[in-house]
Amino acid sequence: MIFADIIVDISVKSLDRTFQYKVPPGMEKDTRIGSLVQVPFGKGNRPLKGYVVNLSSHPVYDISRIKEIIQVEKQGVAVESHLLSLAGWIKENYGSTMNNAIKAVMPVKKEVKGQIKRTVYPLVEKKVMEGMAEEFEKKHNSARARVLFYLSGIEDDIYYNGADYSIIIKETGVSKAVIDGLEKKGIIGTDLVKKYRNPIESASGDCPRHKLNDRQKYIADSILSDYRDGIRKTYLIYGVTGSGKTEVYMNIIEDVVAQGKQAVLLIPEIALTFQTVNRFYKRFGDRVSVVHSRLSAGERYDQFMRAKEGSIDIMIGPRTALFTPFPNLGIIVVDEEHETSYQSETPPKYHAREVAVQRAAMLGASVVLGSATPSLESYYRALKGEYKLFKIEERAGNAVLPEVHIVDLRKEFEAKNYSIFSRKLELSIEERLKKHEQVIIFINRRGYAGFISCRKCGETAGCPHCSVSLKPHMHKGVVDRLKCHFCGYEIPMPDKCPSCGSKYIGTFGIGTQQVEEAVRKKFPQARTLRMDADTTAGKEGHGRILGQFGRGEADILIGTQMIVKGHDFPNVTLVGIIAADLSLNTGDYRAAERTYQLVAQAAGRAGRGGKKGEVVLQAYQPGHYSIVNAARQDYESFFKQEVSIRQMLQYPPVSNILGVLVFSENEESALKLATITADMAKQHKAVKVLGPVDAPVAKAKDIYRKMVYGKCMDYNILRSVKDCIEAFKEEDTEFKDCGIIFEFNLIS
Ligand code: ADP
Ligand code: ZN
Ligand code: ZN
Repeated sequence: MIFADIIVDISVKSLDRTFQYKVPPGMEKDTRIGSLVQVPFGKGNRPLKGYVVNLSSHPVYDISRIKEIIQVEKQGVAVESHLLSLAGWIKENYGSTMNNAIKAVMPVKKEVKGQIKRTVYPLVEKKVMEGMAEEFEKKHNSARARVLFYLSGIEDDIYYNGADYSIIIKETGVSKAVIDGLEKKGIIGTDLVKKYRNPIESASGDCPRHKLNDRQKYIADSILSDYRDGIRKTYLIYGVTGSGKTEVYMNIIEDVVAQGKQAVLLIPEIALTFQTVNRFYKRFGDRVSVVHSRLSAGERYDQFMRAKEGSIDIMIGPRTALFTPFPNLGIIVVDEEHETSYQSETPPKYHAREVAVQRAAMLGASVVLGSATPSLESYYRALKGEYKLFKIEERAGNAVLPEVHIVDLRKEFEAKNYSIFSRKLELSIEERLKKHEQVIIFINRRGYAGFISCRKCGETAGCPHCSVSLKPHMHKGVVDRLKCHFCGYEIPMPDKCPSCGSKYIGTFGIGTQQVEEAVRKKFPQARTLRMDADTTAGKEGHGRILGQFGRGEADILIGTQMIVKGHDFPNVTLVGIIAADLSLNTGDYRAAERTYQLVAQAAGRAGRGGKKGEVVLQAYQPGHYSIVNAARQDYESFFKQEVSIRQMLQYPPVSNILGVLVFSENEESALKLATITADMAKQHKAVKVLGPVDAPVAKAKDIYRKMVYGKCMDYNILRSVKDCIEAFKEEDTEFKDCGIIFEFNLIS
């Protein structure tokens, strides 16, 4: 008798354990670790789905009381067993239920039936077939003759690989019986092949294969020689924008694939649409596939099947591509590893970069992380020697880094220039329009309207304890208080600037549409394109706009952060950044890091071709170290300053933060549980506790949300705090109406 341990498909903490079932006779073959099955559950034997996570011959209690599996779901997709262990790791490290963790590692859960294609292939040589066709014609068997004449007339590669049955029927007008007859005679054979949906439209144009420069070659060779020696590691390539990192990835992947392994390339969702996929497709043809959220369920299912069956070697996509069921995964590349979109927004709130490193360790694969603006975490680990670091400090080919002008917006205000454009930016745009070169205008939308600043001196109201900006709180439509979302510090809304006395203080924000209007007014001759959440809705939104811009159908592209990613437009020689330091005010301890990233990436869009680029960077705090260093693309100086601040305030990556979100319809019980949570965390001397405070979104859909933060150098202590809180919540009946979500090292 075989017994299966099963995780049922309900994400409730109290059911977050396995239940044992009998595998009935006849079902042994189909019941595997990872299989999706149906089982009777609870007192009423309600049928529920669940995943088999273990099989054994030992019953855990009285055999007669163990229920039987009802059936193995035929349409279900089984979880690969190593993905199950990965799910276990995710559950442990990010505090979620096993059921949710299993769902996270299974991007497709259901089979979506694809098309089946029938093909006809020859059993004789072309010449022989032609002879037979003539024979049939003589015997007045013209239907058979038509088919054989048709087949012997087609191109060799179709002839030998099999021609499409439906096309033959259409072209020759014969019935199915005619084909069957020819098959019986042994002249042709027929075959059924699954036809997979291929989401990549065939790429056009050619992709030059560059000879790697010395630096690129050194990096690719080092990683590949480790790989051949059986050394598996995590590498971080820090290379300025346009330094040829993608070219390096392609070389490494090519080599690893040649050794019979497969590769995953993770890229942020918004960078996905256009150029990177095209470059890979042109180089590797249809051995490459993509998965992303805009594919249909069927398209997605097929891509994972193609991977499983070995008909592709490379999978490109955001987070979910990480879980591609390749038979022999050799390497995972995480491009733009600093991107926030790698962090899942729903529980389990895992970080794809960390899961990539874990998955690779489980499979004996290597990981390559790449960025022009590495996350503090990765660079910190690289300096500690956990990751091997490579730097590329110059652009590939002949391109040089752009010249950056920092414009002080306070001075523009003083000079009575109240326009969105500084005098310098206006002149520079005019110049490009005359020379028929292209312009990108970037609007930093992070922190939009979410803070108070002074237009005269640029000062923003910040928390004296947490080094984050204070958030305005509205009361009856006016801002009446400013609050820190970390520690709860608050002050009344001041009526003049605390530092210079100016009355020009308030929320600041500007949208893409406003900028577009301003551009049209100032430069009526210019053709503009706008790229933001509104204009990019739909399947091809990004691709269409970037395509138009790439073909030179517009002079000025206006957009939010989505335009700063990975796109390469050789004719863009000017990038204007409207308010570069807006993102310093997001109320998040990572604000300076995000600002550095956005500004350095935006600046990196200029001068990617042969022509030298220029960047005009407008800011209220032009002296801030994130702005100054981003303008120089001096990551290391930025890193040094930032890490010392993190050290001082005990923020990651130096320390760790556990965020506990407690929510309930009943504000009092949410607050009470949050207070108990804080007290439990305080029992550990090494943990510094902040809160409870209102969450950044204090109330959503009538649910009250409270946060408690615990900072600690030792991650394991925070994990045990999490376990204690979880255990308390499970046992205590008073807080049945509350929910808890844990987040590690993530505050937004
Ligand atoms: P990154 O990924 O670092 O932004 P890319 O790989 O996209 O850089 O390269 C930037 C530009 O430089 C691309 O247009 C690419 O074709 C070109 N390039 C890359 N490597 C070389 C090389 N060795 N020689 C000439 N041009 C190169
Ligand atoms: Zn002021
Ligand atoms: Zn504070």
